[in-house]
Amino acid sequence: MASGGLSPGDIASPIRSVLKPFGNFTVIMDEMIDLDDQRQQIICKNNTIQYDILILATGVETSYFGNKGWKSMAPGLKSIEDALSIRGKVLSAFEKAEQAKTTREREAWLGFVVVGGGPTGVELAGALGELAGQTLKDEFRSFDSAQARIYLVEGSERILRTFPAELSAKAQRDLSKLCVQVRPRNKVIEINSQGIKVQTDQGIEEIIAHTVLWSAGVKASPVSDILKKHLDPEQDRMGRIKVQKNLTIEKHPDIFVLGDLAHLEDEKGKVLPGLAPVAMQQGLYVGRLLRNRLKNKQTADFRYRDKGILAVIGRNSAVALLGNRRFKGKLAWLMWIFVHIRYLVEFDNQILVLFQWAWGYITRKRGARLITDI
Ligand SMILES: Cc1cc2nc3c(=O)[nH]c(=O)nc-3n(C[C@H](O)[C@H](O)[C@H](O)COP(=O)(O)OP(=O)(O)OC[C@H]3O[C@@H](n4cnc5c(N)ncnc54)[C@H](O)[C@@H]3O)c2cc1C
Repeated sequence: MASGGLSPGDIASPIRSVLKPFGNFTVIMDEMIDLDDQRQQIICKNNTIQYDILILATGVETSYFGNKGWKSMAPGLKSIEDALSIRGKVLSAFEKAEQAKTTREREAWLGFVVVGGGPTGVELAGALGELAGQTLKDEFRSFDSAQARIYLVEGSERILRTFPAELSAKAQRDLSKLCVQVRPRNKVIEINSQGIKVQTDQGIEEIIAHTVLWSAGVKASPVSDILKKHLDPEQDRMGRIKVQKNLTIEKHPDIFVLGDLAHLEDEKGKVLPGLAPVAMQQGLYVGRLLRNRLKNKQTADFRYRDKGILAVIGRNSAVALLGNRRFKGKLAWLMWIFVHIRYLVEFDNQILVLFQWAWGYITRKRGARLITDI
C-alpha cells in the first residue's frame, strides 16, 4: 500500500463483518485509556466496559528512541494511515522534482532514505527501487525517475539480522540491482528538512533527501503502561509485558496479554518475535484455554510452532528461512506471495490481491498511485 501496489480495501476487512457469523460478539470501536482492576472494568474514551476475563492484544507502535522531533519528518509504517501518508509523500516527491527550479533542489526531491534494515525496511526500499526504476519510468519530462537515489540505512553490521548472513547478503545484492544503496553501520544522529546525518566508521556524513521513512524500531502500545500503573507486571526494554507460559500476567489469571504486546520466551530462552503467526497462535491458544476452563479442564503451556521467516525484496526476489532450510530468489518470492494471500482475512480480498499482484507482475504497474491528503 505504501508504494501504491494495493488499495486499503484490498487487504483490510471490517472486524464487525468478519465476526458476524459468531452471534456472541459485540464490536465496539473505542480506545482503552485506563483500567480499574478492582471493579474489573476497562475505561475507554467513550465507554466503560465490564469484564470477567480481559484479553489485551494492542500491539506495538513506532519508536524513535526518544527523538520526539523525528516523528513528523520521518513517518513510520505501522497502520493503514501510515501507508497512505507514505504513499502520498513518496509520489509527491516525484511531482516536486518535476517542478524543481534547480538541479540541487531536484536531487533533494529524488533522494529517499529508509531507516532500518529489518524486513519492513527492506521491503519498503525494494518497493521504492521498483517504483522509481520501473513503474514511473518515462512518465516525467524533466528527469528520469531511475535517477532517484534510494538509501537503506542500518545501524548494525547487516540488514535482515534475524536471517543467516548468507540470506542478508543475497538481499543486499538484490537491493543493489534495484539501485538501492544499502548502508550498514550507519547510525542516524539527526533528521532535518534537508535529509539525515549519519555516524559512519569514517565520521559524520550528510545524506540529502527530502523523503525519510522510518522502520527502525517499535515500542509497546500505551496500554502496557496502563497495566504497569495498576498491576505492576515486568516490562522488557521495548515496554512489552512479560507474561507467564499461559499468557496471563503473574497473579492475575484473568488477564491475558498476547501478540506483539507480550514478551514470552520459548524453551530455548529466545523471545518470540513480533510476527503474525505468533499473534495468531496465541489467539487460538487463549480461546482453547478459556473453553477448557469452562469445562474445568487444564491446558498445557503455550508453545510456539515456528513456521519460519520470510522477507520480500521485490519482483522474483525474497529470502526465507524455514527451520534450517534456506530459500532465496523466485521460489522464496512465490512462498511469500502464497503466505500473504493465504492469511488475508476474507476470500474476496484473497482473489483481489492475487489479481492485482498478477497484473502488477505482468505490467509492472502499481494501480493505487493516488496522492490524497489524509
Ligand atoms: C509494515 C508491517 C509489515 C509486517 N509484515 C509482516 C509479515 O510479513 N509477516 C508477519 O508475520 N508479520 C508481519 N508484521 C508484524 C505483524 O503485523 C504483527 O506481528 C501482528 O499484527 C501482531 O498482531 P497483534 O494482534 O499483536 O497486534 P496488531 O495487529 O498491531 O493489532 C493491535 C490492534 O490494537 C489496537 N489498539 C492499540 N491500542 C489500543 C487501545 N488503547 N484501545 C483499543 N485498541 C487499541 C490497534 O489499533 C490495532 O488494531 C508486519 C508489521 C508491519 C507494521
